[in-house]
Amino acid sequence: MKIPELAKKLEITPADLRKYASDLGYNIGHKSRTIKDSVALKLDEKIKELLEQKKVERLKKDQANIKKKDQSEAGPPQAEKIEIPPILTVKNFASLIQKPVTVVIKELMKNGIMATINENIDYDTAAIIADELEIKVVRSKNKEAQTSSENIDKTKLSIRPPVVVVMGHVDHGKTALLDKIRESNVAASESGGITQHIGAYQVNAKTKEGKTRLITFIDTPGHEAFTAMRAHGASITDIVILVVAADDGVKPQTREAIEHANAAGVPIIVAINKIDLPGSDTEKVKKELASLELNPEDWGGTTPMVPISAKTGKGIDELLEVVLLSVDLEELKAVSEGLAQGVVIESFLDQKSGPIASVLVQSGKLTSKDTIVVKDTWGRILKMTNFQGDKIQEAGPSTPVRILGLNHVPDFGSKMTAVSDEKTAKMTILNIKRVNAAKTIGSGGLAEVSKNIKSGTLKDLNIIIKADVAGSIAALKNSLEAMGNKEVGVKIISASVGNISESDVMLAEASNAIILGFKVQASPTARKLSQTNNIDIHNYSIIYDLLDEVKAALSGMLESEKVEVEIARGKILKIFSWTKNNKIIGVKVLSGEIQKGLKFYEKQGDKKIGSGKILSLKIGKEVVDNASEGKECGLGIEFNQKLQIDSKLIFYKIEERLRKL
Ligand code: GDP
Repeated sequence: MKIPELAKKLEITPADLRKYASDLGYNIGHKSRTIKDSVALKLDEKIKELLEQKKVERLKKDQANIKKKDQSEAGPPQAEKIEIPPILTVKNFASLIQKPVTVVIKELMKNGIMATINENIDYDTAAIIADELEIKVVRSKNKEAQTSSENIDKTKLSIRPPVVVVMGHVDHGKTALLDKIRESNVAASESGGITQHIGAYQVNAKTKEGKTRLITFIDTPGHEAFTAMRAHGASITDIVILVVAADDGVKPQTREAIEHANAAGVPIIVAINKIDLPGSDTEKVKKELASLELNPEDWGGTTPMVPISAKTGKGIDELLEVVLLSVDLEELKAVSEGLAQGVVIESFLDQKSGPIASVLVQSGKLTSKDTIVVKDTWGRILKMTNFQGDKIQEAGPSTPVRILGLNHVPDFGSKMTAVSDEKTAKMTILNIKRVNAAKTIGSGGLAEVSKNIKSGTLKDLNIIIKADVAGSIAALKNSLEAMGNKEVGVKIISASVGNISESDVMLAEASNAIILGFKVQASPTARKLSQTNNIDIHNYSIIYDLLDEVKAALSGMLESEKVEVEIARGKILKIFSWTKNNKIIGVKVLSGEIQKGLKFYEKQGDKKIGSGKILSLKIGKEVVDNASEGKECGLGIEFNQKLQIDSKLIFYKIEERLRKL
């Protein structure tokens, strides 16, 4: 890439570009006019990060100056407002409002937004959080003050395998190449099972030095997959292998693939395929590609081009070696601990097991017991397997996994986030629904939704039902209207027979409702409108699935409850000392295990008498934390009633539980 070209892209001068590059440890020399594409990519990212950091610092400085000026001016001090850019990372937001990141993340979670430190939030979201923290903010007029999501704490990063997608013109050998790579480079599975198609697979490839390293291949060739991913904002691939048949040369879809890769900023490695055929002409292909600004490395350009035969396997090892080599320049890293994030790369409904999704983990560690949220559905993982069908316990960045346990089939390209528990998952989904629904209510946007949630005006789940026959409607209406309690309920806005139409979506938009279809479909225009307006449409073919999900959604809207859980029972043998509220008593454990800190009451028949707490616990002379069934122990207690020898005591603790309807 030409240096002035990159400088222009970054909106800085070439001189500044050289300076920043040298600050970042890249020596690009005073005379050189071009730099390698891979270096340009790296610099582009790093300098952007640097510039954004500077902007945030400048904003902070400006604010400090305004504050100083306010203080020095006569008259009452002006209320100080912090300028917030339209989009910024959680980390930079925390830094601007001078609060710990953990506090910001907690507030975001309270509002149903699961954002990690490096994720972007918009101004509306930031304003809500600031409001909660009693900090005054205003929207910054500086549009450029966006921050990169790449500001990752470098110390927590570890190397991850590259993710590769194969593109190219039809019949040029994409499938043949993917099959050949899988066939010759996948080690035998633990269970000896055959590899299954889950949308991606991993191979062991050898570097030039003979070391073995993993490469992840996206298994679905074609441009649609790549484009769909990008449409969802998910950029998952690190490298595009562009397959060009040596006997056919550059064709329309070859050009299209180059455009897609360039637009996504993903480097290309060309595989010139079918060199085993008599009519193949590698040099001609190179010439054609060079005219499209993909200059072969052996002609002094920056694009590696490897002649291969997907049929005989010739050149494939070299191709993989080149992939690893270009990755070394890229230094691919990701956070490998903590709650995972990823992208759905395949999904379908299995008649026997239910929704199945293949997910490519992008950061963190996904474990087989995690609860995950995918767009507007969630689930607790019931089974997690690798592409070889083996059950696995955890998966790190760049690993494709197949997951069973989601409540719905998620869309291709949807983002997946692991969350700490079911409650968070439900609240997240519910809030996404509320936010989506309320986004259409008026101009208030997110701020208005948050207020509505707090003031409790959104405690009804508004529903529009569409079903195949009138009988289904009657059954659904009855069951749905019977759901709920004093706090939450279902409000049926409309129920009619027929497919989901555009007017249903408009009604949902106007009434802040979700649409439930039973054995019907949404017309293409309705689906399109629902997507642009963020209206939820859910289709079901089993009535109980529909009812279960509405119930789960309503349960998620309930506040959790506190319940008393009995841990142990005991009988008073002796009462040693006696002040008004503090006593020492000798107790025999009748059942369970008495633990320090437990609460208790005295049981007389069906009556509960008094309330107390264990302050200390001894067996003989020894201080202990617990005493099991059959043991005699001494308890230092606090109790607000009189006690008698032989009284029965019930020891318990309070647990917070999700309520179910
Ligand atoms: P794609 O799906 O369009 O990428 O192409 P395929 O992988 O389906 O290949 C198209 C045809 O080309 C198939 O008949 C393959 O067997 C054949 N083919 C693919 N790679 C090679 C190769 O390296 N040499 C030869 N002789 N044929 C190939």
